[in-house]
Amino acid sequence: MTHRVAIVGAGPAGFYAADGLLRGDPDIHIDIIDRLPTPFGLVRAGVAPDHQGTKAIVRQFERLLLQPDVRFCGNLEIGRDMTWDEIVLAYDAVIVATGMVIDRKLGVPGEELPHVWGSWRFVAWLNGHPDFRDGPDLGAVKRVAVIGNGNVALDVARLLAKSAEEMAKSDIVPEAGAAIAAAPIERIDIIGRRGPEHASFTGNELAEMGRLARAVPLVDAKALDVTVPASEPTPERLRKAKNIEILRGFSANKAGSKPIALRFLFNTALKTIKKSDYDLVVTCIGYDGADFPKGESVFPVGWARRGPTGTIPTNRTDSHAVAQQVLAWLKDRTPKSGIDPLPLTTDTAGWHRIDKAEIAAGAKQGRPRLKLTDWASLLKVAEG
Ligand SMILES: Cc1cc2nc3c(=O)[nH]c(=O)nc-3n(C[C@H](O)[C@H](O)[C@H](O)COP(=O)(O)OP(=O)(O)OC[C@H]3O[C@@H](n4cnc5c(N)ncnc54)[C@H](O)[C@@H]3O)c2cc1C
Repeated sequence: MTHRVAIVGAGPAGFYAADGLLRGDPDIHIDIIDRLPTPFGLVRAGVAPDHQGTKAIVRQFERLLLQPDVRFCGNLEIGRDMTWDEIVLAYDAVIVATGMVIDRKLGVPGEELPHVWGSWRFVAWLNGHPDFRDGPDLGAVKRVAVIGNGNVALDVARLLAKSAEEMAKSDIVPEAGAAIAAAPIERIDIIGRRGPEHASFTGNELAEMGRLARAVPLVDAKALDVTVPASEPTPERLRKAKNIEILRGFSANKAGSKPIALRFLFNTALKTIKKSDYDLVVTCIGYDGADFPKGESVFPVGWARRGPTGTIPTNRTDSHAVAQQVLAWLKDRTPKSGIDPLPLTTDTAGWHRIDKAEIAAGAKQGRPRLKLTDWASLLKVAEG
């Protein structure tokens, strides 16, 4: 008899954990469980729809789904459809890869106003997550504030700034794409509490802001009169120095040279949010996660373990290390009896039916896919 491991969460951390387990024990039985009928977590629902190169990582994950002892069990939320106790009892080990996508609060007055959106809610909408089908009303949005100095802030600003032509090869949800293209946006402020030497942007993403058709990045040169502390480890120091160099390039840009002004405002903290300042505010200041049980046979991984930091490749190293711990823990344990504990809902074949339908619909418009965005359609197509 072989060991059975449940991986709860079919995002990158979950798939890399499956990969790590199979490298150590090719016979192990793995169920990758997700509350959605679609796998890949934030690669599908978070990564920007115009960054298809980043999303291509799913091809590696797809290969794992084709392994005979790996099952995808979608549309099964642990804590709702089954309890965590049931899962822990049924499997020899449980890997928790549920991520972290509760928008963190700024904690300032005005945050509850309807024009204030958390980045997860905003990005999930334009990426077609079935729980976030309604987006902000952009019909009269001229001034936007994007709060935060990480890559998610750049994603949000870029997606609002790009023209319909620039988004034509993306898999943005069409309604979101049309709403953004029609919005009368004039100004997008990317607001950071601290100086540019603290920003966590990465160079490629920052440089991309200088290549947008209808938006010009602007920054006050005085804000760039900073040095990166020599105490920083070398890769961080180089990244930050590169950012400052790119921003210095932006500081020579002329306001008004393109329809949208994309202003980087550093050392600026919003003390209160007023509708009169901005028509739309998107906060990109990090995420919290839901609780999960601790226990001897429970192994958290990915964002659920480390918090909401790190890119997709960061999860690979982390998940492989956790997989080693799981294998070491299982080594001297007798496998539990071979009962099948899962009410199988959307399996790999069901997901592939969704995938095929989305790709076919997208092909008609020259797009990578047209996502199904409502639960009923997703489940109907999955059931074939
Ligand atoms: C907006 C945004 C953009 C990003 N862009 C990039 C980028 O361009 N490049 C890059 O390298 N990284 C990017 N990242 C970071 C990257 O997405 C994360 O490093 C990675 O997704 C974390 O993986 P994870 O598996 O821990 O979590 P997730 O990807 O969040 O996966 C968690 C999965 O668990 C499922 N789940 C949650 N709770 C339950 C439950 N109770 N029962 C069953 N299933 C459950 C969820 O549905 C989800 O599928 C971005 C992140 C965000 C938020």
